Amino acid sequence: MKKGLLLSLLVLPLILWQISSTALSPYNSNDYHLKTVVIDAGHGGKDSGCLGSKTKEKVIALGVSLKLGEYISKNFPDVKVIYTRTTDKFLELKERADIANRNGADLFISVHCNASASKQGYGTETYVMGTHRSNANLTVAKRENSVVTMEEDYQAKYDGFDPNSDEGHIRLSIFQNAYREESILFASLVEEQFTTKALRNSRGVKEAGFLVLYKTTMPSVLIECGFLTHSSEEKYLNSEAGQDKIASSIFKAFSQFKELIDSSMDE
Ligand SMILES: [Zn+2]
Repeated sequence: MKKGLLLSLLVLPLILWQISSTALSPYNSNDYHLKTVVIDAGHGGKDSGCLGSKTKEKVIALGVSLKLGEYISKNFPDVKVIYTRTTDKFLELKERADIANRNGADLFISVHCNASASKQGYGTETYVMGTHRSNANLTVAKRENSVVTMEEDYQAKYDGFDPNSDEGHIRLSIFQNAYREESILFASLVEEQFTTKALRNSRGVKEAGFLVLYKTTMPSVLIECGFLTHSSEEKYLNSEAGQDKIASSIFKAFSQFKELIDSSMDE
């Protein structure tokens, strides 16, 4: 059995129990149902994201995001789907979170692709805001956060954040989302679907400090759909069928999450 699946099988019953109990305090204070989702295709415009041998992260992320949005709109016409971008344009990290906050989104999904210097790494990872427990997680956060240097006055906008400093990332990870448990639940469902539906190598649910997640006020995840630096995974992610499988797996997790959240409020 894959490690990621085993982990989600162990963790999921505990989280589901918490959902059905009164532990969901942020939800209990509102009449919360999953009505609005923000889908954030990572990077764009002058920011290509990581590079494969012939692919760019910004292109794959947009492809998966649009497909995911289509699945949700088609199957849940009452759910409002908002994209941070639908074209190849540059967006500041803060603006992505602001779009979700301004629209009162109930879930924020940021879609990305991974890269590794060794070219050996492959598989999926879903991140929630939190303290990284390994250097590998820190490396991913550093790479994703490094794009702030393309923004003007980024230190002023991000509380003096320095993308090159380990300490900066540790400080950043202290900003934990109030919806941490729900974020972990959704992340677990996504990784489980990647394993069972898309037959990917799930590297599991992980934590690190991401600038795109630290100011969102709803359950929020950052999905690394696979490694563009791994030749066969790059080929998969660059194909229609591969992108469709990834998107439909995230959609399946979305459906499960929505059902759990909505039914916990109907009780
Ligand atoms: Zn990225």
